[in-house]
Amino acid sequence: MHLVTADETARACPSCGTFALRVKGLVRTRPRDLSYGERGLELAWLKRRWYCHEPDCVRKSFTEQVPQIPAGARITARLRRAAALRVRDAGSTVVQAARDLHVSWPTVMSAFRTASREVTDAELPEVEVLGVDELRELGGGGFLGGQAGDGVDGLDGGPAGFAVGAHTSTTGIDHTEH
Ligand SMILES: [Zn+2]
Repeated sequence: MHLVTADETARACPSCGTFALRVKGLVRTRPRDLSYGERGLELAWLKRRWYCHEPDCVRKSFTEQVPQIPAGARITARLRRAAALRVRDAGSTVVQAARDLHVSWPTVMSAFRTASREVTDAELPEVEVLGVDELRELGGGGFLGGQAGDGVDGLDGGPAGFAVGAHTSTTGIDHTEH
């Protein structure tokens, strides 16, 4: 399948954003994409090189790029993503994902590292935990726990740091369900 660039922003200079007007030449690339159907789809993309005519721009020329295929990339962003998710979410090994998608091991590994950071950098959900110190305050120096005579069976003392089936009358706060 032969591709030509449809995205008009591809001829915007990556350095200064000026839309280039003069073509310097053509570059043929063969970016790899997710396979389509049983047979893989062979892509041939005829990229244009442009002159940047902005006098103050440091970049004299550039090759066009589109979001799915950034400059220098040999595979599409969605193929890269698919490889990463096979390892991160589907439990595939790097070797297996590389074999299945016909990409190299380092490509899968690098994509996986990027995708993993999305998880490790994500904010943890807030968890409300009643800490030991708060329990001490509630219990007036001791841990809350079933004490003899308060009607809770088998909870003598309770495990340290946990309020088990007890409520205190000293603070008036009741943390238990009856
Ligand atoms: Zn420029």
